[in-house]
Amino acid sequence: MKITVHRGAEEVGGNTIELQSGDSRILLDYGAPLPKIDPATNKNVYPTPQEIILNIPGLYADGTRPLDGIVISHNHGDHYGGLIPKPVNPAVPVWMTAAMEELIRISGKMPRDATELRATIQHYRKGVPFTVGAFKLTAYLMDHSAPEAFAFLIEAEGKRIIYTGDYRKHGNKRAAFQQFLEADLGPIDLMLTEGTQSTVLSGPTQQQVLQDIESLVSGREGAVYVMCSGQDLDVITSLSEIAQAHGRYLAIDGYIALVLETLKDQVKRDSGVNLQIPGLGDEHLKIIDAPATAKIARLPEYAAVYARMRPHLVDWKWVNANHKRLIVAVRTYSQYWLEKYVRDFTDAVLVYSMWNGYKVEESFHDTLEYFKTKGLPEFPVHASGHAYFSAVRELVASKQPRHIIPIHTEHPENFTWAFGRDRVHVLKNGGSFEL
Ligand SMILES: [Zn+2]
Ligand SMILES: [Zn+2]
Repeated sequence: MKITVHRGAEEVGGNTIELQSGDSRILLDYGAPLPKIDPATNKNVYPTPQEIILNIPGLYADGTRPLDGIVISHNHGDHYGGLIPKPVNPAVPVWMTAAMEELIRISGKMPRDATELRATIQHYRKGVPFTVGAFKLTAYLMDHSAPEAFAFLIEAEGKRIIYTGDYRKHGNKRAAFQQFLEADLGPIDLMLTEGTQSTVLSGPTQQQVLQDIESLVSGREGAVYVMCSGQDLDVITSLSEIAQAHGRYLAIDGYIALVLETLKDQVKRDSGVNLQIPGLGDEHLKIIDAPATAKIARLPEYAAVYARMRPHLVDWKWVNANHKRLIVAVRTYSQYWLEKYVRDFTDAVLVYSMWNGYKVEESFHDTLEYFKTKGLPEFPVHASGHAYFSAVRELVASKQPRHIIPIHTEHPENFTWAFGRDRVHVLKNGGSFEL
């Protein structure tokens, strides 16, 4: 079996890994490179379509035998973004969960320049083996900052490979990591593991983030603004729990509400599981009339969900009257509607719950600067979306893979130091390994 890492071997994100057995070939993820910050302008430079598209034989209709499939681990652009700028050959099925497909479609519709996922989609389900070409795959739910993220056990030629996707053990889904840790997957020949945080042995957990934010909320008379990703449902769930426990309201926009409802509906439909995330049934959840809410109101495909949101919509008069009791989830560019509608920020604070590295980027800087000029003290409280190296070590210790290929990392050498030169194979982008 031949494993080729087309992208993601030398950087965080953009994962594109090819597995070949005989004449059967599949891809694990087809990610776009993450944007890079230009130090001259502090602006995010997004990869061009030419930089995103990889010319892998059989990926596009190029006259060669089509790939047998592409398997997407989760709905972060650095894992599926390759599918967007140019549709892959419709003869190549793209495997993801039903929830992932919905969430990718929502993400595509939100920006001004809407994008569309055009591909032959097939759905896999957690724990139910599925076959792609010569490969049998089983998806295991992992703990990650995406709403749903999976690792895979991949079997072919009597060999077993684990592809971890992105993961951590310190988030709200830590039980999923624990289950994966304890699952008996048999002898593992190769583990492809992410190593984003391979230079960090341990760090804050989502539980600690919750406690830190709670200590800010407790006994305070003033709004708490929280800057976080709209799809980081661990943070949103923490905020909802805090709001409920302290007699406050959690104010979100229609985009976050749509993500929550879509995930809830799809997972319930798929596996009968009631996800423990905030929902429109929660009394303390309020939807503010931010631009994202107005956008969803205009999209006919979300009319049914929007109708369910309506009873929870609040106007700006209500927001101003209840401001001191609010926890408000915000993102970049929020300053434009806040400046227009919110009158008084007295006693309010800002919690920054995202990766610190974003802060130098212009749009983040501008939003944070706005809160500063309004007199809000800023508290950085964040748990990484990725495993600290102690968790990577735990996973390697439990699965005992014969070989390890680090991916999604700028520091693969840490794997060599930790697990030895005999086991760890550090590849360059485009490099291959024969198993
Ligand atoms: Zn990633
Ligand atoms: Zn991710």
